[in-house]
Amino acid sequence: MADRDALRELASLFKDRATLYAVGGFVRDTLLGVTPRDLDICSHLGVEDIKTMLSGTRFAVSGKSMRLGTATVSAEGFSAEYTAFRTDSYPEGSGVHRPSEVTFTRDMRADALRRDFTANAVYFDPLTEEYTDFVGGREDIEKRVLRAVRDPDAVFGEDGLRVLRLVRFAAELGFEPEENTFAAAKRYAAYVKDVAPERVFAELDKIFVADTAYPGLGVSDGHVRGLKLLDELGLTDLLLPELAALRGLEQPKKYHIYDAFRHSVEAYKAAEPSVRWAALLHDVGKKVACERQGNMHGHDAIGAELVRERLAALGMPPRRVRRTAELTACHMADLKGDMSENKLRLFIAEHAEIMDDLTALKRADAYATRGKDVGELRIERLWREMRSDGTPFSVGDLPVDGTDAQAAGLSGREIGDALSALLREAVINPVLRDRARALAFLKKRADRL
Ligand code: ATP
Ligand code: MG
Repeated sequence: MADRDALRELASLFKDRATLYAVGGFVRDTLLGVTPRDLDICSHLGVEDIKTMLSGTRFAVSGKSMRLGTATVSAEGFSAEYTAFRTDSYPEGSGVHRPSEVTFTRDMRADALRRDFTANAVYFDPLTEEYTDFVGGREDIEKRVLRAVRDPDAVFGEDGLRVLRLVRFAAELGFEPEENTFAAAKRYAAYVKDVAPERVFAELDKIFVADTAYPGLGVSDGHVRGLKLLDELGLTDLLLPELAALRGLEQPKKYHIYDAFRHSVEAYKAAEPSVRWAALLHDVGKKVACERQGNMHGHDAIGAELVRERLAALGMPPRRVRRTAELTACHMADLKGDMSENKLRLFIAEHAEIMDDLTALKRADAYATRGKDVGELRIERLWREMRSDGTPFSVGDLPVDGTDAQAAGLSGREIGDALSALLREAVINPVLRDRARALAFLKKRADRL
């Protein structure tokens, strides 16, 4: 990461041939007084040049792209992304993130103008500690403004990812997009479609937890600002059409104060960072359920399927897709607090792995239904109690094991079946958490076979 002594050491190795600069987020965040997340460095030297120059030093050059002039420079406790000064050309009429042609240059100003926002185009010389700023970036950082480095239509017309970066930086840093910049972002928002899904997903994923990005900046509503900007740019419709379809979908007034779209947004706003995706999408099945059958029954299962498809298409990693779909499928569990206690205990034990997130989701859902805090939910209370009262959540938590089952006279598949059955009983009945009673349970089962 960004060890400043190592950065100076590296810069002095460049000194005879080039000035090495820090640029981008590192400079921006330093000027804002917060800890930078990573370090981007640059000079006019090509990647092959710096590789030769740094051989025999403690800095290694790896993961290079000759075409883009990029590489990672690392040493013990230090890592930086290097980019040679360059200008990029992009294919016309598309937002694809990959430049079609890259031209290396000695002209630092040209390098600044191929970047996205002025706040990201300030250069810092670690040896002299001087800044070079061709585009008014320092002033914009001070004013907390995001402004395109040049004609905003050209900036957004080249690379659809920049629209999402605009939203992300606005959300994370609490910066205001400058008017013309925002207007152009809106004109080119559809170019986001040309960007690889994984990149789009990575930006959305950061936007949805933008409030946690820079604790030092005190932007406590970053995720709310981010979603609002996405919506204003038409990106909810473009990227999350099942969510957009909930607009204006009325819900029974008896339970709900908002329509299904507003309810989803309110749930997202209130949700803890770990469940923002689930909170935003948990009700997407409602529209389809209504169309199919005229009511919302089964919207949890329908929604889980829609969530699975949408998130996979967006490039969310499969494990997280499965988890978000499962949360969606389970969000109605004990909604009215009237499930039998035994059934609810079994449900909780079976879903122990997702229960922290599920209770977080259900809390956000309940808040967004009524528009106010509803206190601890019954499922939350039971989950809390079960974790402290010795409830077993897996076969490994039982006071007996496979060897005991064998000794009791069980064999093969019967062993696993018997332990699973015992687990279900022991979740409900504390008596079976006693070893002697558990052994008796196994014996009885063996005798019955
Ligand atoms: P972060 O804090 O997320 O690292 P960053 O501004 O450093 O923010 P990086 O993705 O690390 O962003 O990129 C480093 C710099 O490269 C940016 O500050 C910007 O100047 C330039 N850059 C990155 N992506 C783009 C892009 N899609 N279009 C134009 N310039 C870009
Ligand atoms: Mg960076």
